Amino acid sequence: MTNRSFLPGDDPPIVVTIDGPAGAGKTTVSRMLASRLGYRYLDTGALYRAVAVSVSNAGCAPDDLPCIQRVIAALEIDCQVSDTGALDVLVGGKAVTHLLRSPEIAMFASRLSALPMVREALLGIQRKIGENGGVVCEGRDMGTVVFPDARAKFYLDASPKIRAERRYLELAASAAAVQVDLDEIEAQIRQRDEADMSRPIAPLRIPQDAFVIDSSLLSLDEVVQCMEDRTRSLSGEKR
Ligand code: C5P
Repeated sequence: MTNRSFLPGDDPPIVVTIDGPAGAGKTTVSRMLASRLGYRYLDTGALYRAVAVSVSNAGCAPDDLPCIQRVIAALEIDCQVSDTGALDVLVGGKAVTHLLRSPEIAMFASRLSALPMVREALLGIQRKIGENGGVVCEGRDMGTVVFPDARAKFYLDASPKIRAERRYLELAASAAAVQVDLDEIEAQIRQRDEADMSRPIAPLRIPQDAFVIDSSLLSLDEVVQCMEDRTRSLSGEKR
């Protein structure tokens, strides 16, 4: 794997955005791309999931807006890259990464992410991480709302069936050994797509100047190579 840093005389590292629906492979692809470019990596879905864990731990009902507001106002959220290169999400200084991956937290995160107060609370954190470039950011509104001026934008998609199969394998292999059913995962993925694409604020859509990749029939390496080549060319890097 190439892990080449930028040379003196290269243009400054840029912001790369990768948007797309649940299970399209954004997390794996983003991490690999960041590693090859010598960039940092930002998984914004993990931030929305961390909000969901915090709201759930506080015992707020999903429609209790004052309770959610109180949790958000007190939220101290941060992320750091661990020694293994994985992204740790910290809430109040404590790592919550191991609590983020369950289907229930994903559904709750999707529900909370439609609230303007949640999106506003996370906007500044995300922009701060991206302000000096050199970062691969994945999510639903990276190229449309958070980094509309990003130089390299991608939209990663795959058929719902393939996305469900990938999520199933990932969950079945996870250390948390979450109990999963393939049909149920596909139904949840379709439900989350529908919610994420139809919400009035920052809906999931293809950014105007994004390069669309359907990963259904491509290998992981083919997807990452395509993104790497395009990013290096768009950043004006001299080889
Ligand atoms: O990407 P992931 O599946 O971890 O995201 C969980 C949920 O967080 C998504 O279904 C979506 O509703 C929300 N999200 C969002 N905007 C982002 C990232 C995630 O609304 N930039």
